[in-house]
Amino acid sequence: METTLKPSFLDEVASVPACGKINECVQCGVCSGSCTTAAHWEHPPRKIIAMVRAGMKDEVLNSSSIWYCVSCYLCTARCPRDIKPANIMHALEAIALDQGYNPPTKTTTM
Ligand code: SF4
Ligand code: SF4
Repeated sequence: METTLKPSFLDEVASVPACGKINECVQCGVCSGSCTTAAHWEHPPRKIIAMVRAGMKDEVLNSSSIWYCVSCYLCTARCPRDIKPANIMHALEAIALDQGYNPPTKTTTM
């Protein structure tokens, strides 16, 4: 019997175009410090990236944080490793929608 292995969560995210450098993040925090909406994030961008790398799929995709990116791209302009955190957040939104994780409603975020 043939067994098909599912890709790890990290591989799943890293395979999305422009997200492939996620493993080169040095956790400097520049993205979180630059993020215009991070004050509202349960887990700011640096931490979301760490959680993806730790394989915390349910915690990441159930978090309201991934929906708070407003595409200002300050993180991407300033990241010293060219990681493109904004693209990663949007990839996570797409994976969440595709796999049945629900985005937060107004009543759960306000
Ligand atoms: S700025 Fe770049 S290297 Fe630094 S924590 Fe954010 S994604 Fe990682
Ligand atoms: S693009 Fe998104 S994650 Fe990056 S700084 Fe702006 S709001 Fe934050």
